[in-house]
Amino acid sequence: MKVRFWGTRGSIPAPGPETSRYGGNTTCVEISSGKTRIIFDAGTGIRKLGYLLKSESEPIRILFTHFHWDHIQGLPFFIPLYIPGKPIEFYAYPPFYQGLKEMMVHQLKKTYFPAEYHTLPSLIKFFKLKKRNNNIGPLQISVIENNHPGGATGYRISDGKKVIVFLTDNELKPPEAKTPWSDFVTFSQDADILIHDAQYNDEELKQKPGWGHSSYSQVCQLALEAKVKQLIFTHHEPVHSDDFIDDMVDEWRGWVKENGGGFELWAASEGEEIEL
Ligand SMILES: [Zn+2]
Ligand SMILES: [Zn+2]
Repeated sequence: MKVRFWGTRGSIPAPGPETSRYGGNTTCVEISSGKTRIIFDAGTGIRKLGYLLKSESEPIRILFTHFHWDHIQGLPFFIPLYIPGKPIEFYAYPPFYQGLKEMMVHQLKKTYFPAEYHTLPSLIKFFKLKKRNNNIGPLQISVIENNHPGGATGYRISDGKKVIVFLTDNELKPPEAKTPWSDFVTFSQDADILIHDAQYNDEELKQKPGWGHSSYSQVCQLALEAKVKQLIFTHHEPVHSDDFIDDMVDEWRGWVKENGGGFELWAASEGEEIEL
């Protein structure tokens, strides 16, 4: 399996010289196995991916975590939408599945954007995901309900050999949990890669309980308990500079060593590709 990060920023794009290494575009992650490619979320990072997919013959498959702005804002600029007959499949887990088409119809209205949904010439289909046993090509996908205002969907993806868990917009220990900590440990168990929302340090999280995001320390603890092989921080806070994120990675690598964690740790950067 391959992972490619097209957008790693949380909440709002944060371009500028101080964020150029980890990237300013919002969430978009590509996971592929052989010819099968799935895309998670349509943050502003999806714009650039769209150009590469213009000549793709396979249907384009986009799975959503939820519809907060930073996860859909790149969609109107996703070029394949405007290619006649281009097959594009959109996937979501309830309750997002029920609002999937409506989200696009609202977003592509003249009030907000020059093109309207009903004029799109591409061949769009919508699919409802189940809790587990979703199969797309060789990929098996299961989901978990994240702790996030308005909800969000977490994903576990396996090609039968390797496992990637993608949990963004998830507060591991919120004031009121929909899904308890222990369920996230089970869901992430033995993953080859855990990609998790790590928007705050502990001080910042204290100021923002219930906002739906996790801290570096919580995510490291989860990776330790779930015995994952690699942990990748993502959904970087817009005010965090590259240097700040470097410092956090150094600090928490130290913690992992002190606590006997056997996993590698880094922060997702835009354009980065990992092969498993
Ligand atoms: Zn977000
Ligand atoms: Zn969100």
